[in-house]
Amino acid sequence: MEHLRSTETYRAIGVELAQQFAPRAAEWDKTRSYPWPNVAAMTDAGLMGMTIPRAFGGQGASFFDVVTVVEEIAKACTLSARILVEANMGGISAVMAYGTDAQRAFAAPIVLAGDKPAICITEPEAGSAATDMQTTARRDGDHYILNGTKHWITGGGVSKLYLIFAQVLGDTDTSQGIAAFLVHHDPVCGVAPKGFHIIGREHTMGLCGMPEAELRFDNLRVPAEMLILPPSGLKRGFADLMTAYNSQRVGAGTIAMGVAAGALEHAKRYLKERHQFGRPIGEFQGLQWMLADMDMAVHASRLMLHEAAKSRGTTGHAFPDMMMAARAKAFASEQAIKVVDNALQIFGARGYGDKEPLERMYRDVRMFTIGGGTAQILKTQVAGSLLGMKISQRR
Ligand SMILES: Cc1cc2nc3c(=O)[nH]c(=O)nc-3n(C[C@H](O)[C@H](O)[C@H](O)COP(=O)(O)OP(=O)(O)OC[C@H]3O[C@@H](n4cnc5c(N)ncnc54)[C@H](O)[C@@H]3O)c2cc1C
Repeated sequence: MEHLRSTETYRAIGVELAQQFAPRAAEWDKTRSYPWPNVAAMTDAGLMGMTIPRAFGGQGASFFDVVTVVEEIAKACTLSARILVEANMGGISAVMAYGTDAQRAFAAPIVLAGDKPAICITEPEAGSAATDMQTTARRDGDHYILNGTKHWITGGGVSKLYLIFAQVLGDTDTSQGIAAFLVHHDPVCGVAPKGFHIIGREHTMGLCGMPEAELRFDNLRVPAEMLILPPSGLKRGFADLMTAYNSQRVGAGTIAMGVAAGALEHAKRYLKERHQFGRPIGEFQGLQWMLADMDMAVHASRLMLHEAAKSRGTTGHAFPDMMMAARAKAFASEQAIKVVDNALQIFGARGYGDKEPLERMYRDVRMFTIGGGTAQILKTQVAGSLLGMKISQRR
């Protein structure tokens, strides 16, 4: 059993791994390959599944510990930071919060051995309107039969655990509510459930080493004991399961902020290093103010994200406060895009080329206002919370 580590110890591990990961970050991007050596290093360092409770073999680390290490890793390798978030926040935290002991005992060792579980919610006709999903689960004895298509599933094909969301049909074939099913898919080790198909991969502008997959389920049989249902039952269960997304959002916002913090460090270096008109470009006030704005944006994002990460449990849930998570992710992701853009600008033509990591960081950071709840949807949540009303999105 691992001893509990301090947040500072986690940060130091993050700094060390970032140095180790930086030299190959461009390679994963160019070759569009999953960074397995980095996964092995994060597994060896005890970071994969660090939030899993000690009773199930993890370290019971806090979300604040995770964001501390994620920020450091994101400065060097966005891809690895993303894997780390998904191995600790989101899917696995939903299993740990709402799963049975048997489900938790099943999932924990897979993640602790290096897996990043995949969350399967989005469908071609159900993006922001997730409850419009058409994937169905029909009870058949001691199994459920799943049918449907999911797309933009992060890690599809490299992940071994899949949390598949589906409309659970009743006797009259009408939906009783949405629940999640925990499915193990690991063909390399001979675990290939019939009816589970990975049918395609998106060609993305950034985070190119991460597969974003299309999945199809054709009469996929899932044992009934793999249904994950919060105590609130089928009607309310989806809303509770989605609270797990509050942690994922804090993690995603932290990756964006970490990339921005990394870009800021590069910009500081270049402002002193690059000379034009006989002096370092950092002596030009226009660039100094740009740098100050970048620093303020990163700092404000970090404060909001830390506040959200520490809010776990304050609202009676096992996850961060919804409003704080939405506010922090929307703000951090929008600010990060601007910060990385400005850092690239400070590098001039050099920033546009691939001798520096700025162009990759610029492409990587773009997705954080989209994936895991768009900035618009998150702002709607913030406004709803401020006004004390659930803002209807339906006609
Ligand atoms: C890199 C990446 C990884 C992803 N990984 C996963 C994953 O692992 N699992 C998963 O299930 N999904 C994943 N997604 C999907 C992601 O969650 C969806 O893209 C997101 O929910 C938005 O859905 P959409 O793309 O269909 O956009 P749409 O919902 O079609 O929205 C289109 C535009 O309309 C806006 N809009 C929509 N509704 C409203 C509204 N009510 N008010 C204001 N504006 C609105 C949106 O903000 C957006 O700008 C991923 C996406 C990306 C890009």
